[in-house]
Amino acid sequence: MNATAALLSPSTGIIDVHSYMQNLLAQAEQNNAFFVARTRMLHAQAIDQGFIVTIESQKEITQLKCNFLINSAGLHSEQVAKNIVDMPAGLIPKLHWCRGHYFSYAGKSPFNQLIYPIPETSGLGIHATLDLAGQLKFGPDTQYIDQLDYNFPGDLKAKFVQAIQKYFPDLNPDKLHPAYTGIRPKLQGVNDPFKDFVIQDESDHGINGLINLFGIESPGLTASLAIADQLVQQLSLNK
Ligand SMILES: Cc1cc2nc3c(=O)[nH]c(=O)nc-3n(C[C@H](O)[C@H](O)[C@H](O)COP(=O)(O)OP(=O)(O)OC[C@H]3O[C@@H](n4cnc5c(N)ncnc54)[C@H](O)[C@@H]3O)c2cc1C
Repeated sequence: MNATAALLSPSTGIIDVHSYMQNLLAQAEQNNAFFVARTRMLHAQAIDQGFIVTIESQKEITQLKCNFLINSAGLHSEQVAKNIVDMPAGLIPKLHWCRGHYFSYAGKSPFNQLIYPIPETSGLGIHATLDLAGQLKFGPDTQYIDQLDYNFPGDLKAKFVQAIQKYFPDLNPDKLHPAYTGIRPKLQGVNDPFKDFVIQDESDHGINGLINLFGIESPGLTASLAIADQLVQQLSLNK
């Protein structure tokens, strides 16, 4: 296949996600925040000023009080919202779990840029991405699932080869190897038209200090600082 046109996006790139997260954590701690891992929010109750939140860590259940509650629980944000007393049930959207798979490409990458095909209805399409070490990988596709299952199905190679050959006709299928999977929390169901993410605040649900984030899929990582700025404004923290 020959392309008649392409768009060059010189600012498209990759970042070291682990360093980014470590950096955010360090800055948060410098500003007196505590990050508590392996701790599950069980439920929350709005009180006059803030919330009483019940949490579980190492089978111990405790309560804490907070002024603001931000539900950014990704794949579980629907369930977390259901566990917030007084959260109107009609405003909690159904999340559809959609797994994406990546194949890695053995050997030297033929590209030195990321290559994106024309997007599909439920995703960006199987694109070519480089990691920081220069390793090429292809993905992710979209496969709606009912259970949280990160296993890599054994029958995906033909589909990937067909998609990749549209923009890389010289692909040698023997160089493709299953790499890893990830799961998106989509608001858009299997045959739905496009549905974007939703951020709800008091003006939506009437609960002061509560923010719900639903359907934060790609590019949620790239947009994370912009989303954080938006939440600060919605909670009027910058006054
Ligand atoms: C295959 C794939 C490819 C992607 N590619 C890109 C990309 O190229 N660029 C990009 O910008 N984005 C990409 N994304 C999207 C990006 O990963 C997400 O947008 C981002 O991780 C969302 O961050 P989050 O903090 O909202 O949710 P998450 O990262 O899902 O974090 C949610 C957190 O909430 C915790 N949690 C859940 N339930 C509870 C509970 N009851 N109590 C306490 N904690 C709880 C979870 O343990 C988790 O730590 C991709 C996603 C997938 C799946």
